[in-house]
Amino acid sequence: MQESGKLLIFFPRPAYTIVSNFVWLVTMKKIRNYIILFDVLLLLLLSGMWAEREAQKAFSSYMEQENVPAMQTDHIHKAEENTEESEYVPEDTNYVEPEEKKIAITFDDGPNAACTPTLLQGLKDRNVKATFFVTGKNVEKNPQIVQQMYGEGHLIGNHTYSHIQLNEDNRETFKEEIEKTSMAVQEITGEGTLYVRPPYGSWDKEFEKELNMFPVLWDIDPKDWCSKDVGKIVETVCEGAEENAIILLHDQYETSVEAAFEIIDRLTKEGYEFVTVDKILFD
Ligand SMILES: [Zn+2]
Repeated sequence: MQESGKLLIFFPRPAYTIVSNFVWLVTMKKIRNYIILFDVLLLLLLSGMWAEREAQKAFSSYMEQENVPAMQTDHIHKAEENTEESEYVPEDTNYVEPEEKKIAITFDDGPNAACTPTLLQGLKDRNVKATFFVTGKNVEKNPQIVQQMYGEGHLIGNHTYSHIQLNEDNRETFKEEIEKTSMAVQEITGEGTLYVRPPYGSWDKEFEKELNMFPVLWDIDPKDWCSKDVGKIVETVCEGAEENAIILLHDQYETSVEAAFEIIDRLTKEGYEFVTVDKILFD
């Protein structure tokens, strides 16, 4: 009421009615409230603008300090979102992520005295590493080829001793054949086998624990042993090729060796990198 009194003093009004004085006072009070509200809003707006300008200034100085091109602000946000320990390293804008399409070529049933040396030479010329699932019987016949395979960086896997197919009655024999083959390889290279390709794909998961070996099946089977047709083998494999695929061939047919070289040359041009199966299974 005191304030209303002041207003009455500072704003002399016509003296005719008390009602009109009252209306006038109420109106003035309302206007004053609106002015206060407007001031508060203006203050909020100005402080918001100021905060934004300060943030922009801080960001620009960060950019200058780090010498980061303006185009790469997205990466900065990403880097900030990551763990505190990870440091943001400015990327080269011309850098293109290399396309890494791994694929594995594998050869079963060897080594073969007539075909495997030619194959090894071709792989060496192309700087390609392959995986050989050898039978113990052929390892004993061709120890020098096994030594060469190992020395040239190929992976040697186990394909049983006599190419036995696992069935309900031969579980123990099958297991013994795998162990015998691993021993035969170890005698030559100093290293036993860790990967098994069970003939015809018949396998018992319990062997993984019992033998501490991993089964390796395949993704692309051109049935090279059946067709012996280079063009057909190459087409089937190249059409089925995809990242991390495992190709199955047999290194006791000249046609398979010839097809292998064509497959490697063609898929290399398509951006594939030939690796041993362990790189596909565990990397
Ligand atoms: Zn086989």
